[in-house]
Amino acid sequence: MSILNNALDSIAIGLEDFESTDDRRIISATRNIFSGILLLFKAKLCEISPQGSDEALIKQKILPETDEAGVIKWIGRGKKTVDVQNIKERFESLKISVDWKRLDNINKYRNDIEHYHSTLKRDAVKKMISDSFIIIRDFIVDELNKDPKSLLGDKSWKILVEVNEVYLKEKQKCDLTLEQLSYYTDEIFHALREYNCSECGSDLLEFDDARCVFKCRACENELQYDEIVNDAVNEYYAGATYLALKDGGDIPVVDCPLCGIGVYIVHEGVCVSCGGSANHQCAGCGSNIPAEELSDSIFCGYCNYKIDKVMSE
Ligand SMILES: [Zn+2]
Ligand SMILES: [Zn+2]
Ligand SMILES: [Zn+2]
Repeated sequence: MSILNNALDSIAIGLEDFESTDDRRIISATRNIFSGILLLFKAKLCEISPQGSDEALIKQKILPETDEAGVIKWIGRGKKTVDVQNIKERFESLKISVDWKRLDNINKYRNDIEHYHSTLKRDAVKKMISDSFIIIRDFIVDELNKDPKSLLGDKSWKILVEVNEVYLKEKQKCDLTLEQLSYYTDEIFHALREYNCSECGSDLLEFDDARCVFKCRACENELQYDEIVNDAVNEYYAGATYLALKDGGDIPVVDCPLCGIGVYIVHEGVCVSCGGSANHQCAGCGSNIPAEELSDSIFCGYCNYKIDKVMSE
């Protein structure tokens, strides 16, 4: 059986798992759909592997060989096939585009789903299926040059389209409730929109006006602003923080120098918990105070040090 057929089977079985009334099958739904997506990617790598290379592009190990004419050829070796990271690198190098952020979300949800075991709800998986639908559809159209509806079959296609529509509508309703609130900065709104419920992993967070609490629409977990805002904002900036630490750029968030409880968004100059704003320009030397040195003082670290020294003399 071809890799493409395996991919389509895996997706179809995953969707059957999702449709089942047996909640234990939710986990296998996420696994099957994710492995279906990876198989779709591998089908592409297989298709474009050079002839006689033993499907080099899907093999982790590729070794050079010389043929009778003395020409070097790269041949796939061993049984190990490419993992997500390998696929990413090869696609990037081959200029095959995939929405990696979306794929990472799917992968993260699939990995985290074990933690939500006790509260696993079919509703919470909808985002993962909606994200999968977009990746699968776009990849089939753009990279496999096929019609997704006829390739996936009517049954799978119908489930994917419907789940995606329902999810997007629910998400839109949730976003509207969040939009009505006023925040210290809009960044908090963007972060809450992307927040994943700590109980079930769903991102369907809404604000319940009547009860004045945030609520997960999937598992009905109720949350106060202070309980979620730090996690939401930290997660929202996780990528930028990682890059800043790795490449030495500006750190986007620090612990609030004023209240010590909230996350302080440096470029917005505001704490998401107390709403306070630190002084960013030193009153002594006039320099911009680095994020790590922000404090409740009007001076930078160096000026503070000098003042302390003078005072103690
Ligand atoms: Zn939830
Ligand atoms: Zn604060
Ligand atoms: Zn200074």
